Amino acid sequence: MLPFVWSDDCLRHQPAAEVWVGTRTPASEVPARALAIREALLGAGAREVAPVAHDDSALLAVHDPALAEFLRTAWEDWAAAGLPSDQVVPYVFARSQLTGGREPAVPAAVWARPGLFAYDTMTLIGPGTWEAARAAVDVALTAVDLVVEGEPIAYACCRPPGHHVTRSLYGGSCYLNSTAVAAAELVGRVGGPVAVVDIDAHHGNGTQEIFLGRRDVLTASVHVDPGAGWFPHFLGFAVENDEANLNLPLAHGTGDEGWLAAVREAAAFAAPARALVVALGVDAAAGDPESPLEVTAAGYREAGRILGKLELPTVVVQEGGYDLATIGPLVVETLAGLAR
Ligand SMILES: [Zn+2]
Repeated sequence: MLPFVWSDDCLRHQPAAEVWVGTRTPASEVPARALAIREALLGAGAREVAPVAHDDSALLAVHDPALAEFLRTAWEDWAAAGLPSDQVVPYVFARSQLTGGREPAVPAAVWARPGLFAYDTMTLIGPGTWEAARAAVDVALTAVDLVVEGEPIAYACCRPPGHHVTRSLYGGSCYLNSTAVAAAELVGRVGGPVAVVDIDAHHGNGTQEIFLGRRDVLTASVHVDPGAGWFPHFLGFAVENDEANLNLPLAHGTGDEGWLAAVREAAAFAAPARALVVALGVDAAAGDPESPLEVTAAGYREAGRILGKLELPTVVVQEGGYDLATIGPLVVETLAGLAR
């Protein structure tokens, strides 16, 4: 009867579209993802727990207050400005090389303001985006509470995902980094080090950036090689590894054998930790439209087993996974492997 935390508010973010290579394409990070997972969990006998509201202290421990304030007000300001797009989308970006390293000015134009905080054009903000992202943080923090209170494992069934969000920048269909919030909170509650093992198909670049230089949070990520042309493109390489960060990029087409070897390596890296956060993306599965990895359902169950053998208090936070037919069963398989 593994507990999972659920909030209807996570359904409120409903991006109709993304802007990718200048083209409006249908959104893949949709509310139906979370509903499919919830249905599979209930079918497997998991116990649904309501989230508890938490104040912003844990959120602001990992995020720039200016990013949180922008996300909270962006849609209202955009709508009030009467712009032609029905979603907040940046068109100009405040790169540090543009301003010679100086802090960029806060633009007077509402339509220029997203460029202070966005790093891509595919992560749109509409009515309900802030409410859903903030609810996801509460869901993750409630899962932390459960584990601190003695549950061996708790699962945060939340969306939008978070692992691509840095301290100050949002992107990659993510707005607030619930995984990082959970990890930082665990450090405060159970002591460090806490490990984050990210098995989403894409590099957890936001989590890596947030904890860069810290020794009390160990970050490991198993993902498709960005050098082969995959998001987040600019980082996620082994050259970024140090004592507290481990990137394990995998070739296009990697299946269970190679993927599980990397998960084992990530688990060994996490072993000294006092608590574990699993950033659970199931988009490494064969058949997922967003990645070229070929992991099976049995592979996900085995990954759960490998991480469960660490016998650490474990918070699992939902990240990616875009095949609506299999996302629920894949999450159930992973959690079944983890349960001990
Ligand atoms: Zn992903």
